[in-house]
Formats: sequence, C-alpha cells, structure tokens
Amino acid sequence: MAAPGASLTIAAMNTSIPSSTTSSDEGATLLPRIAVLATGGTIAGAAADATNTSGYQAGVVGVEQLLAVVPALSAVARVAPEQIASIDSKDMALPLWTTLAQRINALLADDDIDGVVVTHGTDTLEETAYLLHLTIKSDKPVVLTAAMRPASALSADGPLNLLNAVTVAAHVASRGQGVLVAFNNRIHSARDVVKTSTYAVDAFHSPEIGALGWVQDGRVEFQRSVVRPHTLATEFVIGAKWPHVEIVVSYAGVSRIAVDALVAAGVRGIVVAGTGNGSIHASVQQALADAASQGVAVVRASRVGSGHVMRNGAAADDALGFVSAGSLNPYKARVLLMLALAAGAAGPMVLQKIFDTY
Ligand code: ASP
Repeated sequence: MAAPGASLTIAAMNTSIPSSTTSSDEGATLLPRIAVLATGGTIAGAAADATNTSGYQAGVVGVEQLLAVVPALSAVARVAPEQIASIDSKDMALPLWTTLAQRINALLADDDIDGVVVTHGTDTLEETAYLLHLTIKSDKPVVLTAAMRPASALSADGPLNLLNAVTVAAHVASRGQGVLVAFNNRIHSARDVVKTSTYAVDAFHSPEIGALGWVQDGRVEFQRSVVRPHTLATEFVIGAKWPHVEIVVSYAGVSRIAVDALVAAGVRGIVVAGTGNGSIHASVQQALADAASQGVAVVRASRVGSGHVMRNGAAADDALGFVSAGSLNPYKARVLLMLALAAGAAGPMVLQKIFDTY
C-alpha cells in the first residue's frame, strides 16, 4: 500500500553514513569487511507516521540510509553496501534468487570480503535463506536479517537486527555454519527457521529444534552447530533454469482440480502441504498418484508447522511414488525439490535420499 508522506519521514532520518563504515577508513582496516546486500522488505519500509506499523510501503529506504542510522556498525566491521533490489519479499521471484546467489558467490570468492549480510523482507526470508544455504559455495558467513516494523516506526527493530547481523557475519564462530538468520537477538540456521507471527517482533523461530545461538550487545554465542550438509558440501549450483514446482494444500472438501490443472500445465514437481503427518485427502491423493505415474515428482510435507512427515506413515509412499519432506515445511521443500530437479535428480528413491540428506 502506498504511504503518503513517506518521503518526509525518511528525510528526517540521518542520511550520512558514518565515515568508519566506508572502505576508505584507514583506522578500521583490521575490522572484517562485510558486504551488506539490500533487497527491500519492511526493514526498508516507511509509513506516513511513526505509530503506523502495518500501513506502510516496504522496500523504499536505500541501503545507505539503513546503515546511516546504525553508527555502532563502525566499531564492528567495514561495511560495503549494495542495493540488489527494492521489493516487498512477497514478490520474490526466481530470477532475483539467481542474481542474489550469484552475487554472493562472487563477493565471497574475493579475498577482501569476510562475510555477507542480506537485508530481506520477512515474508519469504525462510525460503531465500534455505536456497542460499544450499547454493552458496563458501564457508564465509552469510547472514540474513529483516524487521517487523518499518524503518520509520517508533521502536523500529531493523537497526538493532542489522547491527546484530553484521556482528554475527563478522564473528569467526559463524564460519562454516551455513547460512544464518539473525533476528531479535537469536541466531537461527537457514534450514530450520520459519516465520511464525504476522505481527510480533519475535517473529522467527526454529520449531522443535530451537535457535543455534544468540547475539546480544556485541557478544555472539553458538549453542549448537548445523549437522546436515550445506554450502560447499552440497551438489547444488545456482543456475538460470528453474524447474516448475508448485505447492498444493490438502483440507476438508478439497477437490483434485488444482493438481490436474498443474499437471496439464506441465509442472515437474508438486509439493503437497498435507494435514497432520502429511496425510492427504483421498481425492487429491489419487490425483497426485496419477501425476507421479506420469513422472511428476510429488513430495509430501505438512501444513502443521512443526514435526516430521514420516515416509510411509500417513501415506504409502513406496506404492504411490511419493517422497517425504521430513522436517522441511512445504515452502522449503519446494526450494529443495527445484534444486534437486535442476541437478538432474529423478525418481522417488533418488529424491528421497536428497530429502533425507539436506
Ligand atoms: N511484506 C514485507 C516483506 O516481506 C514484510 C516484512 O518485511 O516484514 O517484504
């Protein structure tokens, strides 16, 4: 929604970047050099007044302004800002994912860059984070962050989240942990983190498994590490081609119309957000079995929000040709399925091994 007067709000913000956050500061040359890639989102949002935290426009504040209101950054890192996009992350698109991942890979291949922070909208952050977790080819830290309140808001959460994200990216303990999400003082793994609230400042959690650690007042502490392979240890590369994969939902009274339409449209894969342990309404299950018999990859996930989908649990995967998503939610399962199909994986057993691995 447009935010009349937003420009006035932003004009009131300090627009000068503290000199020590620029590359020319000689006194800070020993600090890590962190690239900050901005893509938009509420962290870069603006409303007409400071008490408005829902009727604002996302992605209108530039990266230099986001950095300018956090002078404490100059004591943490030498930041190198880049504006990659200025979108509401609900509109995240596959070509932008390609651009973002390729840019991060190029930056991290540069010896002068020690880590990357990505500012992002909260709506699809968990999808982008998992995509990068599987396709970034470096063990240097990559940290996503965001905000639930626009930059113009009273008690905006973006500036502290940004400072914490740069602090995590600059910390040696973050190396080799895969892609991380720093939000509301916690550090999450990109694989596990999901958005769990439409409005709360504490909007991100890693259901069942919990955060990796925390960041507060400049202190970074990890309590556990990431076990499943990621970044350098995956078989996935970011490319220009994205196999067509869609998501359908199972619910009371659902018909098979959506599945049949997707198959007719030529999809390569379908993720079903099933009920409970990935159980599927009989009409949709039959449509998906028909799709699988025609070579469409079918992955069973759950709409519940936490817990595992067990293979051959609520559905006879072996007989129907389905794959279980395990603990990935439908949106992350779609990311993995697209990458797997792009890498040439085919057949339910090969795909199941990939889902069991990542
Ligand atoms: N719609 C916004 C976005 O995802 C929400 C946010 O950033 O919190 O870009």
